[in-house]
Amino acid sequence: MVDPFGRAVTYLRVSVTDRCDFRCTYCMSENMNFLPKKDLLTLEELDRLCSAFVAKGVKKLRLTGGEPLVRKNIMFLVRGLSRHLESGALEELTLTTNGSQLSRFATELAECGVRRINVSLDTLDPEKFRTITRWGEFDKVMEGVRAAQAAGIRVKLNAVALKDFNEQEIPELMRYAHANDMDLTLIETMPMGETGEDRTDQYLPLSLVRQRLEENFTLTDLPLSTGGPARYVRVEETGGKLGLITPMTHNFCESCNRVRLTCTGTLYMCLGQDDAADLRTALRASPDDAFLSAAIDEAIGRKPKGHDFIIDRDHRRPAVARHMSVTGG
Ligand code: SAM
Repeated sequence: MVDPFGRAVTYLRVSVTDRCDFRCTYCMSENMNFLPKKDLLTLEELDRLCSAFVAKGVKKLRLTGGEPLVRKNIMFLVRGLSRHLESGALEELTLTTNGSQLSRFATELAECGVRRINVSLDTLDPEKFRTITRWGEFDKVMEGVRAAQAAGIRVKLNAVALKDFNEQEIPELMRYAHANDMDLTLIETMPMGETGEDRTDQYLPLSLVRQRLEENFTLTDLPLSTGGPARYVRVEETGGKLGLITPMTHNFCESCNRVRLTCTGTLYMCLGQDDAADLRTALRASPDDAFLSAAIDEAIGRKPKGHDFIIDRDHRRPAVARHMSVTGG
């Protein structure tokens, strides 16, 4: 699958549910309206959709959400998709999780061929953790991280850089991650969905974070790419890697290889644009994949050049109305 700008689409992210057991303040409002369960694709349908993408050249599949591990019977989907790892059609099956359910699922995930996962963790302070997630339990997440590592899964921590929240804690988060054999990726907060918070109060440009880190650490740019949006540096003092996802200060749309599927079968060709394709209708139109394959081709042919997120006092409304949990982070 090659889009109109010559970019090969090899990476599919799938939001398997829009629901989450946390309510991170930069992601969701406290009272969210979630999709009625009847609107969700079944796990069998999600499998069929993902498999159609694999047949068309997707090499990396990430399950996300909402919180992927709160979707009922999610391991049925993971186990099913792992057949594409065994056949060699898929190179990587992974997920992004808040870690709350990880201690239950880590061993089974490893058995299904999941080798790496991203765990979102914005602070090491249990009280601050509760504040930012509104409902999260820090110790449960830590237990999950340890369970994943014990099962042989490599964990990368993802932290959204937030002004006046974890700004001062970033060096500590990085030291902690690297001391425990994990990489850390920092993410700039993006204007997606109403959260009831002012984004200009939360937004912390990573250019500034990097500048401050460089006062105490030696950061060496790495050519490494894991097929995602992060750019990596090696931190000479800790020996670990630090990823920087900078959709605000520098988007890397020119090398975008991703599309995103929601749990209702809507395909977003760009995280930061509203245009989308309805794959559910094509999926349900026929038991074979001819319609679906044509609908995917048509959608890829509409993949836009990029997004243009802006956060400043003149742009108080989100760039896109949907929350990150709909499209999947
Ligand atoms: N529940 C899972 C988790 O916590 O990782 C997966 C879904 S969550 C939406 C995926 C990632 O998106 C998390 O790392 C989260 O911090 C990040 N995220 C959510 N809203 C964001 C926003 N507005 N800007 C930047 N990152 C955001």
